Amino acid sequence: MGNILTFCEVTDNQLRVSSKAAISVSRDLASHHGGDVILLLIGKGTTNAQQDACNYGNQVIVVDDPNLEHYTAEIYAPIIEAIAKKNNVSSIVATATSVGKDVMPRVAIKMQSGLASDISAVVDKDQFKRPVLAGNAYATIQVSSPIMCVTVRQSEVDPAQPLPTPTSDIVNESAGTLSPIDASVLRIENSVSERPDLNEATIIVSGGRGMKNAENFSHIEKLCDLLGAAMGASRAATDAGFVPSDLQIGQTGKAVAPNLYIAIAISGAIQHLAGMKNSKFIVAINKDAEAPIFQIADYGLVATWEEALPLLMEEITKLKNTHN
Ligand SMILES: Cc1cc2nc3c(=O)[nH]c(=O)nc-3n(C[C@H](O)[C@H](O)[C@H](O)COP(=O)(O)OP(=O)(O)OC[C@H]3O[C@@H](n4cnc5c(N)ncnc54)[C@H](O)[C@@H]3O)c2cc1C
Repeated sequence: MGNILTFCEVTDNQLRVSSKAAISVSRDLASHHGGDVILLLIGKGTTNAQQDACNYGNQVIVVDDPNLEHYTAEIYAPIIEAIAKKNNVSSIVATATSVGKDVMPRVAIKMQSGLASDISAVVDKDQFKRPVLAGNAYATIQVSSPIMCVTVRQSEVDPAQPLPTPTSDIVNESAGTLSPIDASVLRIENSVSERPDLNEATIIVSGGRGMKNAENFSHIEKLCDLLGAAMGASRAATDAGFVPSDLQIGQTGKAVAPNLYIAIAISGAIQHLAGMKNSKFIVAINKDAEAPIFQIADYGLVATWEEALPLLMEEITKLKNTHN
């Protein structure tokens, strides 16, 4: 028996939606291990996130400090380690976001534990399912160390729902006594976007090499803004410099599962599908009727984007106007 420690990310004083996938898996593990689900929040200014976290965990541990405003693995990993060692944990779980993927291998080394990375389900108390071969197969992996570290692929797991009764068990820990804060972030250069985060968007519109150049991506941007969608891209489009590489969806980019994924001028290579095939509805627009993207699309339109996008946007605008 041991508790399950869930590292939850906090952005702008809010619990990140992506962390709810880690909470789901933590609850599964707790049903095997018999312990509590303890949510760990680290950051500067976490009061709203704490309130939200009380709806999801049996206990909430907070490490709130002005020096923790910006994430660095060097500072966060020893804090997670110290909290894990104080709380009799059998597993430490995080969502496989860029932060989760960065910090958890360090935590695993510090805890001398095995790391089950990017898992899609809990099979047994120490066994997990994870996608392999660009999502074409699933492997069952087993962790043999007494304490396990786990990262969860958000697009494969339903987010946790609130508990019927929120907990009032909030423990505040002081960062300085857990671990020396001996690294600091000098400057952050955020990419500024009014659009939703790709990992949390319910609609994503992605463009591929067939968009031909960076300027043409303004058509995709317009469609995104009309739909309140996040913008994504294939690797061919990011490699060509049409859009920044943090928009890449796929095996070596982000794995997403929105309600609606619109793929425009994307062929549907296996490595792209690996990152978006779990989307609820997939719409593809491609001028080549043989493009593999049509094999997984729920709705497909064989047309050039030059013809299709203006008509699509006109129809969406009409629909929006009738509903307003
Ligand atoms: C190890 C490895 C990892 C990879 N990881 C990723 C990854 O994470 N994500 C990823 O996306 N790729 C990844 N790739 C690359 C992948 O194999 C493909 O090369 C890439 O996805 C192709 O992008 P694309 O569909 O935009 O381009 P293309 O395959 O060139 O397809 C362009 C499509 O646009 C259509 N088109 C052209 N003009 C128009 C028009 N005017 N109107 C409508 N349609 C048009 C064409 O018919 C075509 O289907 C990886 C490859 C490797 C080897």
